[in-house]
Amino acid sequence: MISRADEARAHWLNTLDNFCENRDVSGSVKYWSPGLDTASQDEIRSIQNAKVAAVTPFLYENSAFYRRRFDRLGLAPTDIRNVDDLVAKWPVIDKSEMAQDALAHPPYGTYTTMSEEVWTQRGWMMFSSSGSTGVPRVFRYSHVDREMGAWANARALQAMDFCKGDTVFMITGYGPHVWAWGVQYGLAKMQLPTIPGGGMDAKARAQIIDRFKPTILLLTPSYALHLGRVLENLGVDPRKSSVRTLFVGGEPGISVAATRERIQELWGARMVEFYGCTEASPHVGGFSCEASQQPGKEVTTHLLEDIQIWEVVDAENKKVLPDGQRGLTVCTNLNSEASPQLRFLVGDYTVLDRTRCDCGRCHARAIGSFSGRADDLINLRGIKMFPIQIEQAVRAVPGAGDEFEIVLATNSDGLDIMTVRMEHADHSTPDGLIKAVAEEVRTRCEIRAGVEVLAPGTLPKTEFKAKRVRDQRSKVSS
Ligand SMILES: [Zn+2]
Repeated sequence: MISRADEARAHWLNTLDNFCENRDVSGSVKYWSPGLDTASQDEIRSIQNAKVAAVTPFLYENSAFYRRRFDRLGLAPTDIRNVDDLVAKWPVIDKSEMAQDALAHPPYGTYTTMSEEVWTQRGWMMFSSSGSTGVPRVFRYSHVDREMGAWANARALQAMDFCKGDTVFMITGYGPHVWAWGVQYGLAKMQLPTIPGGGMDAKARAQIIDRFKPTILLLTPSYALHLGRVLENLGVDPRKSSVRTLFVGGEPGISVAATRERIQELWGARMVEFYGCTEASPHVGGFSCEASQQPGKEVTTHLLEDIQIWEVVDAENKKVLPDGQRGLTVCTNLNSEASPQLRFLVGDYTVLDRTRCDCGRCHARAIGSFSGRADDLINLRGIKMFPIQIEQAVRAVPGAGDEFEIVLATNSDGLDIMTVRMEHADHSTPDGLIKAVAEEVRTRCEIRAGVEVLAPGTLPKTEFKAKRVRDQRSKVSS
């Protein structure tokens, strides 16, 4: 006899199948899944409702974490049949709640629907969150996830104008983070060739670009700056290279106008991005489209709403906010066998807009993209700011080097202070620069910062993800 758990799983997998369009081959020149990609907000909502009705019994029967949560809230799976029910009745889940579950139920936790049997029979890959909480949270995905993820990523990559003729240089170490792996399988689905670029230094990578002429680079924004400079030092002008697209992820970059412009200018190439998280994967959350960057307008990043529900919530009370208001991102994943999380607090600040985009999609757009996780927020004497606000201040000064760092320390009076360390060719006569950067920081963050101007090449070069903040305070205020 089939168990309730297996029955709910079969129904969920059927539902995923039913709402998949053009799984293996693109449906048109412009859209991979034309019906879904150009769906109206009403059509998207009815797909979301059908998926929510199928996913709640699946989670209840297959995840002990979810079953306990339903029981604690006094809810049956049938109480959440559509998006309105979900938003009204289901409080957001944050990382610490998952981390506690992982601690109580080592080593995997019970917040996914992956059973030992499914993992043994058709497990695909285990990814790990890069969160800063200290408790590793892992996510084991199945081959259903691989397929659904590759399909979703192919849709997003086609929207970013990846097409036949492109070769993608994958500048990543292929670690336990989901981004590059998910892209790799999406590119395989599109049958676009790739060059793996793990396990080599920047000079070797620069030589590969010069010699084998990839058209697209996958890398972090800070590494794009570094690699461009390495190419220049080899006597190769990045602008004259084969590279036409810089595909970035892993840290904010496209949202910082001055950084984006600096990188695009350095390479003479267009920057596009994927946005997402390990918890709601292995596919993309957000992606750039042809209309993402327009003169005089803020940069935008789409979200794929037939496969995920995206909301922004108030940072304090976690209540949902209407479109147009700034809040923290929350994701419900409706495209996964292993990790279809309900209202997971991803926690990046943005503003959503659901009017039709010039590219023809009605899927929500994050206006100004994403400006950093709430976890990265610097709290200095009660004043809160993001590292990217300091980055904008440094970049606003002509001639500033690519690298910078923010040092938080406690002075001899017991007062917490911030020093911005930057590089500039005029480091021997720094007075004007110090004043200019301090003024930019004061305007953007309403705080006084010390500024140190160093000779170019003093600060360590970013090799992968930039580490911008050094916190040496004797006690960290919360
Ligand atoms: Zn668009």
